[in-house]
Amino acid sequence: MPNCPNCDTWNPDDKTVCWRCQTEMPKPQEKMKKTPRRFAGLPLYLWIAMIFFVVMMISVQCFATELGRVAG
Ligand SMILES: [Zn+2]
Repeated sequence: MPNCPNCDTWNPDDKTVCWRCQTEMPKPQEKMKKTPRRFAGLPLYLWIAMIFFVVMMISVQCFATELGRVAG
């Protein structure tokens, strides 16, 4: 909590008015709401899931072709 704008006295966080001069304390600034990161309109986790899925598909295909070669 910043000090009182009137008398520059420190006030505890739960005080809405200065304990010394009864000046109304400025409200603490609201923290910026965290928005999920988005790329091309999709949230980041969806991209990660898609990339993971594609990588899985490719590796499965490679594994299948390797098995095919071994089998003849
Ligand atoms: Zn004050």
